[in-house]
Amino acid sequence: MAAPSQGFSLYSKSFHSRVPSKHSFQTSFRRNPFGLKVKACQNPKKEDILIVGAGIAGLATALSLHRLGIKSLVLEQAGSLRIGGTSMTLFKNGWRVLDTLGVADDLRRQFGEVTGMTIKTESGRELRSFQFKDEAFSQEVRGVERRVLLEMIARELPQDAICFSSRVSTIDKTMSGETLVVLDDGRQIPTKVLIGCDGVQSPVAKWMGFSEPRYVGQCAFRGLGEYQTGHSFEPKVNYIYGSGLRAGYVPLSSTKVYWFICFNNPFPGPRTSDPTLLKKEALQLVQSWPQELLDIIEKTPDEGVIKTPLVDRWLWPLVSPPGSAHGLALAGDAWHPMTPNLGQGACCALEDAIVLSRNLAKALEVNGFGGSSVDQALEAYTRERWGRVFPLAVRSNLVGSLLQWENGVGCFLRDNVVVPKLVRLGPLLEHTNYDCGTLQ
Ligand SMILES: Cc1cc2nc3c(=O)[nH]c(=O)nc-3n(C[C@H](O)[C@H](O)[C@H](O)COP(=O)(O)OP(=O)(O)OC[C@H]3O[C@@H](n4cnc5c(N)ncnc54)[C@H](O)[C@@H]3O)c2cc1C
Repeated sequence: MAAPSQGFSLYSKSFHSRVPSKHSFQTSFRRNPFGLKVKACQNPKKEDILIVGAGIAGLATALSLHRLGIKSLVLEQAGSLRIGGTSMTLFKNGWRVLDTLGVADDLRRQFGEVTGMTIKTESGRELRSFQFKDEAFSQEVRGVERRVLLEMIARELPQDAICFSSRVSTIDKTMSGETLVVLDDGRQIPTKVLIGCDGVQSPVAKWMGFSEPRYVGQCAFRGLGEYQTGHSFEPKVNYIYGSGLRAGYVPLSSTKVYWFICFNNPFPGPRTSDPTLLKKEALQLVQSWPQELLDIIEKTPDEGVIKTPLVDRWLWPLVSPPGSAHGLALAGDAWHPMTPNLGQGACCALEDAIVLSRNLAKALEVNGFGGSSVDQALEAYTRERWGRVFPLAVRSNLVGSLLQWENGVGCFLRDNVVVPKLVRLGPLLEHTNYDCGTLQ
């Protein structure tokens, strides 16, 4: 029986030990919390393509490559798929990628379409209501549970695709120019291509010269309200605006409702891990707000409430390091963390996966790993994606600053002029029309 927290992979052949050379292949299976089979595995000696991080970016990249017939290995620091992050809203650009990956329909069966959006004040006065299809007929909006999304993508990967309990600590170059990935238990894996999908604290990004993402002065609480016998909410995104504080909720399915609260906070403050305290803190922030929001928060299991300091990174030309270097590239939050105000972080991570894999596959088809074509492909990927993600990160930040106004006059204008009379959903969601193309 394999030790539960060491070197597991989904059907995997990665390590089962922290001392790789002394251990042989194990064949016993256990079940991870998602019902997927997890098998202890071997020590990968050398890889062609290593992906760090089994989040949305990492798994989508691994699956895109797999669909193109290219093998990769994902290293994930956690002992199983990370379930934090509760839920998120995916717009049509995200669904287009999930269609390309062949996992969209399974998700659609679980998560209903959200047809509109309502904006209210903290006193419950409705400011505006939209139907998505009135604004753009092809729009598709659904809230999805992060856990289910990751699980769906992981299920499509081959048995030996993910190595859990494998935390990358340092990165180096070998004499032959390959990238050497060193794990915190001392294991070392040389690789021809390293793709950093390791989120906002990415060690790969740090190694490539990126500084820490910038805290934007706001934090978010998130959770998932559970209604065992069903709820009666309309399939709409609901926003509630206050002063320096806003909240929202969106039904995901007949029994689950995702909610968030976003609040101004000059400093991110200490990390609170006690879930009861987090829920209490969240409720206190909105205690006099519409009752339906309070009910959803109350119906959230304590351990499901999370608090996240919001960060982003603006990829200034000439100032920011390139997103790819010799044999290395970044994707998702590791490269371009953005605030959640446009609901595009995960959607863009999905787009990254397609564009990166398509470019890499073309280069490999012509020259294999030899010559400079892989580096050129990675460079072409970052060039194509930069034009997409840099403006979005900036826009998302600016939208957040407007929505988080504390100033009384600003809030008055927002609630009485801007939202009821000026806002048009079509232009606001124009970025969701972006088509990153298919894998071919
Ligand atoms: C409050 C909030 C709301 C959001 N709402 C939305 C939304 O509605 N729609 C949307 O599209 N996006 C949304 N986002 C953004 C979205 O959640 C992220 O953009 C997305 O999850 C990024 O995925 P990722 O795979 O790049 O990074 P992550 O999800 O952070 O995954 C990184 C993975 O790398 C692993 N890792 C890290 N370091 C190491 C290491 N050293 N070695 C091995 N593994 C490592 C981690 O364990 C993790 O599994 C929201 C974000 C926040 C904060």
